[in-house]
Order: sequence, then structure tokens, then C-alpha cells
Amino acid sequence: MEFAEFATRAAAVESVSADTDTVGFVAELFADAGEDLAVVTRFVRGRVFPAHEPTTLDIGPALCYEALARAARPNVAAADVEAKLAEIGEIGAVAEELDLGGQRGLASFGDGDDGLTVAGVDAELRALAGAEGVGSTDTKVETLFGLFNRAGPTEARFLARLVLGNMRIGVGEGAVRDATAAAFDVPSEAVERAMQVSNDAGLVAETARSEGEPGLGDVRLAVGRPVEAMLAQAGSAVDAIEAWGSVAVEPKFDGARVQLHYDGVETRLFSRNLEEVTDALPEVVETVAAALDRPAILDGEVVAVDEDGSPRPFQDVLRRFRRKHDVAAAREAVPVEFYAFDCLHADGDDLLDAPLLERRERLSALLGGDDADPGGVADVRIAESVEEIAAREEAALAAGHEGIMLKNPESAYTPGDRGRNWLKRKPDVETLDLVVTGAEWGEGRRANHFGTFLLSIRDGEAFEPIGKVATGITDEELERLHERLVSHVRSESGTDVEIDPAVVFEVGYEEIQRSPTYGSGYALRFPRFVAVREDKSPEDADSLERVERLAR
Ligand code: ATP
Repeated sequence: MEFAEFATRAAAVESVSADTDTVGFVAELFADAGEDLAVVTRFVRGRVFPAHEPTTLDIGPALCYEALARAARPNVAAADVEAKLAEIGEIGAVAEELDLGGQRGLASFGDGDDGLTVAGVDAELRALAGAEGVGSTDTKVETLFGLFNRAGPTEARFLARLVLGNMRIGVGEGAVRDATAAAFDVPSEAVERAMQVSNDAGLVAETARSEGEPGLGDVRLAVGRPVEAMLAQAGSAVDAIEAWGSVAVEPKFDGARVQLHYDGVETRLFSRNLEEVTDALPEVVETVAAALDRPAILDGEVVAVDEDGSPRPFQDVLRRFRRKHDVAAAREAVPVEFYAFDCLHADGDDLLDAPLLERRERLSALLGGDDADPGGVADVRIAESVEEIAAREEAALAAGHEGIMLKNPESAYTPGDRGRNWLKRKPDVETLDLVVTGAEWGEGRRANHFGTFLLSIRDGEAFEPIGKVATGITDEELERLHERLVSHVRSESGTDVEIDPAVVFEVGYEEIQRSPTYGSGYALRFPRFVAVREDKSPEDADSLERVERLAR
């Protein structure tokens, strides 16, 4: 498919407002995508790599602006692109207006056909993601320049958005699912199920097209291809006993979620937002993986521990997560342990549909251990009454855990689902996970860093401001936060900085109030910074619905 064709179709999707129209247009696009089907299922969501692949494009806005500036006719400076962005407010519209492609034809001297194709754009962006080390920035700008240079106005709009990972055409996971179902005449539920298992919209669409519903039913888990984590809702002992009669009670570890994949030789670890964290957590690979002798996919929590094995606060474990350098020193300073609480795959068997207790048995069989020495397996007890649950909770808190998890013993593992089969109970004051969408430069001795951060709450695919946080942050932390955020800066005016949604802060507060001050309609009273949720992406941040519930 020509990229121009894709862009025209994307523009059509952008111009419709009803969800059903969106699905209809996307279904037609999928049906016509031919051999580019898998790529197109990703491009409509602003992605180059499937959700399960830890690789990201990782192109900061600055690189994109520079490439656009060079491709513009006449050439402009990157600062002019930024100025235009501040004026128009959206990079796709800027790219469209810039009149790119002045040098169309130069790139492929003489062959007469230098139009962009979907496959070509995909291949170039993939190659660019692999560029590392000295000179890689120049290579990236050069590649992007080459692409922009060959793009017409509508192509430029969607190319720029694709490069920055946000298509803004209102196509989410649900629309891709329904469009796949409509395009290839298969039930939406079968598509949903295959997506949960494979985490690969391209593979699912291709399977739906070539093998229909039976093929979708045959999609299996694959070791090395992480699935989304099953999530929990808040709930009480009474809720759990009333719903299920008997309840599986586990400690709620105050750590970070990790999915462990062992293929019989190699171990890989993935964080909750499906980033690969294998190299950052060598002791997990050494201990748990050494205990495994058959391929497996395990779900669990990595917890920072003291020398005596007692849990340390959750912030400590996050310091280990994104670390690429000095892993040995970090390992010394903050040792971690892995506690497995679920088993999705063991020795060739997919266990998603097996009841929790059966999965737990497979887990114990894999990792060994008994009640006295659970061997890296989270303790689980069956409780039949509210009193028994209360006793487990007391024990868990006394052992330094965050609370307890209450699970339906009969329930299947449903990836990505925040249902009522897992309930969490923790006595702590609630915090919110909010997305940083802006900042203000500090004053006085903090003048070299951002000092205040604008926080937004997730509302569908948008992010609406809910407050600002400046307290609870040490100078040293401010420095780190600045470094973390600066590559995501979209624009600056005076002391105010606009930041693309990329980083999630956990924030404490005294109260949530209705307020006209912020776009969300709510404001936090006395917000205080707790930590950066390195394990979460903006899509995993708390939702406006949750704020509405809490405010009530
Ligand atoms: P929180 O901030 O409360 O951890 P969250 O939004 O990160 O919430 P939830 O799904 O609401 O995630 O809470 C479940 C999380 O608790 C899991 O993602 C996991 O990281 C953690 N957890 C700790 N112990 C367990 C356990 N025994 N079983 C399942 N999840 C556990």
C-alpha cells in the first residue's frame, strides 16, 4: 500500500466523530491492506512495533523538529518549527503546513518512483530504532529527513504523528478489535481473546483473515512474548466472601510487577508496561530462573529487601528498574527478591483458562518449596470467613507487606483485565498515578531545573490537568526528574513548559475537590510527590472515573 493511500484513509478516519463510523473506515482499511495488514494495524495506533515487543522508536520531539525543519521548503530552523507548533498546537498540522518535499526526487535519482510505501516507512523506522552510539542521532535525523522529504502534505501529517507515537485519529484498542472482526467476519470476542493471548494486533488480524474463527481459537501464548498483566480492583473481605464463599488470600507485596519468561535456556523479565528489564535485575534471573527446569511464564512482584529479607518501600525497587549502567552497584545498594504469584504457562501448557488454584499448584511444582520455605512463591491461604481474612491481613501487615490480595480461587487469568476476580485491600491512604504534562522552571537555587510539575489525569486517550506538585521533592530528586523529563518537552513559553505525556508520578493528596481551575474539573488539595512510576506508561495512569469515584 502506498503511504499516501494510508494517509488519505487515516484523514478520513480522523474526520468522522461517531465510533461506529471509525470502526467502519478502519475495517475497510484493514480489508484493503493486503500484505501490509500487520503494519497497518500498528500504524493506525501510532505504533511501529507490536505491543509485546520491548523496542520503541524512542525519537524525541527535538529530532523530529530538526528533520522537519531541514525538509521544509525553504529550509527553516528547528526553533521555527517549535514556534509554529506553539501557534498551531499539533505537530501533524505543522508538518502538513510546512510544504515539505521540496527536494522530492533527489533521494532516488532517476528511477522516477520515489513515493513512500507503508512497508518502506515501516522498514526505515525499524532500522532507525536500532541505531545506537556515536553518530546515531545524526543517522536518525538523516533518515527522518529522507522520509519527510518524500512526503506530500497529508502524508507529512501522519508521518510526523507516527514518528512521535500519537496518531490522534481516535483509534484505540477497541476500534482495532472491532474493525478486525468486521473486516474478516469473525466474532469480536474471538479477536479480543486472541489479542489478550498474543498481544499482537497484526498477528491477530492476519490470522482472522487467513484462518477465521478457528485460527483465532488456536492462538497460543509464546515464551518471550509478554502479555498484559491481570489487574485488581479495590475490595473488602466481605465483598470477597459474599462473591465466592472461599477466598484465596495472598500478601500484597509493595513492589513492582514483573513477568518472567523462561524458554528452557534463557530468562527474560518484563515490567508491567512490557519494557524488558532483564539486565536491570540479574539476581532474579540467577535465583528464580536457576530453580526452573522447564519453560514457563510466571507473574509476580519484585520487592526491594533489607539484609534480613524484610521488605523495603516500593520506591526503592523502582530505582532498580530502568537502570542500564552501574547495575552491580545498584544491586549492592538495593537487593531485590522475586515472588511469583501466578503461572500462565508451564512446560508446553497454556494455563490462562485453568482455575487460579490449579495455576498455583503448577507454580509450586515448578519452583518447589513448601509452607515453611516457599522458595520464591507467594504464600497463598484459603479463607472461608471475614475473620480468617482479617487474621491474614494482620499477619501480612506485620510482615511489612502493603496489604492483601483477595482472589477468586476458580477464576481464569484474564490479561489486561481489571475485573472483580482479584481484589486488593490496603489500609494506606490512597495515592493517584498522574501523568506529567507540564512544568515550570524553578527559582533561586533551583533555577536550573523544573521546580513545579503540572499533573494530568487520564480521560480515555486524553490527559486533563488536575493539579500541580512542587512539594515532597528533594533537590537531588529534582535534578533526576529534570533529566527524565527534558527529552519530552514539547514547547516553552516564559517559565512554562509543555511536556508530552510520557512520565507517570505517584502523588499523595489530602482531598479531591471539584474545581473550575483545571481542565479535568477537579483539583487536588495539598498534592505531594511520592515517586516516579517507572513501571507505568501514561495509558496505565489513573482514570478520571477513579477521581470521580474518589471525589464522591
Ligand atoms: P497499586 O498502586 O495499588 O499497586 P496499581 O494500579 O499499580 O495499584 P493494581 O492492579 O490496582 O495496580 O493493584 C495490583 C498490583 O499489586 C499488581 O499490579 C501487582 O503489582 C501488585 N501485587 C502485589 N502483590 C500481589 C499479589 N499477591 N497478587 C497480585 N498482584 C500483586
